[in-house]
Order: sequence, then structure tokens, then C-alpha cells
Amino acid sequence: MTTNRTFTMLKPDSVEKGNIGAILEKINAAGFRIVAMKLTQMTQRDARAFYDIHKERPFFGELVTYMTRGPIVAAILEKENAVEDFRALIGATNPEEAAEGTIRKLYATSIGENAVHGSDSDENAAIEGAFHFAGREMF
Ligand code: UDP
Ligand code: MG
Repeated sequence: MTTNRTFTMLKPDSVEKGNIGAILEKINAAGFRIVAMKLTQMTQRDARAFYDIHKERPFFGELVTYMTRGPIVAAILEKENAVEDFRALIGATNPEEAAEGTIRKLYATSIGENAVHGSDSDENAAIEGAFHFAGREMF
């Protein structure tokens, strides 16, 4: 089932660099409606739970440090085909491989500090949105 919703985080580097407004402009211009949004800061426990799927990866420790070092903007977005269209809008994980005009091409620093999160499936969009807006239960 498709819900036409996805979940995003403007990651700490985006907030630090003052890019919240510019990124939200891109999101709105691409036709996404903001359903829920908040400025928040993830704890170590939150970040470890959120990125549990990556816990065996060599970058996991750095990822948790990065995602917890300052505030993020968490949001639920709505649009037809939201998950796929938002992944296209943000571009590849590595900004060097991201297409021109994508959010990561414009605003990411590196494969690690890549400005934004976008859910990779309808199922994960629902889980991740609930994690930030309905409690902290990830699984
Ligand atoms: N990441 C990293 N090094 C890598 C791959 C990923 O630091 O080699 C970080 C990066 O912040 C990325 C996050 O881990 O956004 C989650 O990785 P994933 O492969 O799920 O990429 P995404 O879905 O965010 O494009
Ligand atoms: Mg991912």
C-alpha cells in the first residue's frame, strides 16, 4: 500500500550552515506538502535505533556522532509517489554522485555529512515518521 507520505530529516550540517530555509524552499517547490515538522535533537540512543540497519557498517560510529551533534529538522511530507520522488529530489547518498540541482548536490559536504535523510520505502517512511512524531519505538 502506498501512503503518499515520506519522512525527512534536515541533518545537523544543514541546520549549522543555515540551510533550513533554502532546503524547505526546494521541498515545497517540488510539490511536497509539510504534514508535520519539528526542530529536535537526537540522543545517542535515538540515532542508534534510527540507523540500526547500519549498525555493522564501518561508518556507524561516525554516523551516530554526526546525527547527534546538534539539532535536526524532522518532517513528514506528502505528495503523490512521495518516497520515490523525494529520493530523486535529494540525489545520491554521495554528493559527488548526486545529479545537478539535487539537494545533496547543492548542500551536502560529503557522503557522511549529506544534508538530508529521505525514507527508502513506504514501510520505512511510516516507521520513521512514527519514531519522531508518535514516540520512540523503532521496531
Ligand atoms: N553514510 C556514511 N558513509 C557511507 C554511507 C552512508 O557516512 O559510506 C551515512 C550517510 O549520512 C547516509 C547514512 O549513513 O545518509 C545512511 O546511509 P544509507 O546508505 O541508508 O544512505 P541514504 O539512504 O541516506 O542515501
Ligand atoms: Mg537509507
